[in-house]
Amino acid sequence: MTIIVQLEHVFKDYTLGEQQVQALKDVSLNIEDGAFMAIAGPSGSGKSTLLNLIGCIDTPSLGKIFINGQDVSGRTPDELSDLRARTIGFIFQTFNLFPVLSAEENVEYPLLQFKELSARERRDRVSKYLDIVGLSKFSTHRPNQLSGGQRQRVAIARALATQPKIVLADEPTANLDHKTGEGILQLMMDINGSFKTTFIFSTHDRRVMEMANRLVRIEDGQLV
Ligand code: ADP
Ligand code: MG
Repeated sequence: MTIIVQLEHVFKDYTLGEQQVQALKDVSLNIEDGAFMAIAGPSGSGKSTLLNLIGCIDTPSLGKIFINGQDVSGRTPDELSDLRARTIGFIFQTFNLFPVLSAEENVEYPLLQFKELSARERRDRVSKYLDIVGLSKFSTHRPNQLSGGQRQRVAIARALATQPKIVLADEPTANLDHKTGEGILQLMMDINGSFKTTFIFSTHDRRVMEMANRLVRIEDGQLV
């Protein structure tokens, strides 16, 4: 079994005015390639901080993080942008689509930085992933012409279009009704099954946790 994400004694402190917040305290964790893993914990427990560190959006105050065998802890997010673009896809609670771009343009956007792809190859990728999430008929719709569940499907297609090894999803169902949320989780699960993409998602919804094949709980910045 290959370890795709490894955290060794990771701490993360934030300074807020005079106050120090210890968002993560001595977190060590190995995540296997191909996992479908949930991080569960109440609001403020450190879920987003943990995902942001794994996603190289932020760096730890102390400790080491290895992504796909590379030590990323000492490097700035700028230095990590290429690794991030090619290795990691993100899905957010609030979808984070560009409102003025159509579904297909949103999915195409992260591909524009890959100079090795021709326009034709880019368009083929976009149609492939819009098809996988079941939105081929909605490719020219803007986000405000789509339902919440459809917007999250566009976000999933966008995260997958770069063919990342890891997809990080921060409370991907929090803004969806239960049935729609379950459909989104099921789609993520199917993609995990067919492409072996590693999924790491945070949630405080018990029904979402139950769909994971591995569950870690976080409380007050510590794994429990
Ligand atoms: P969760 O995602 O589980 O709700 P977070 O990772 O967002 O938790 O937050 C963990 C703790 O770190 C909280 O106490 C939060 O207030 C604090 N925190 C998160 N981000 C920042 C920040 N940028 N500046 C200061 N404190 C922060
Ligand atoms: Mg959060």
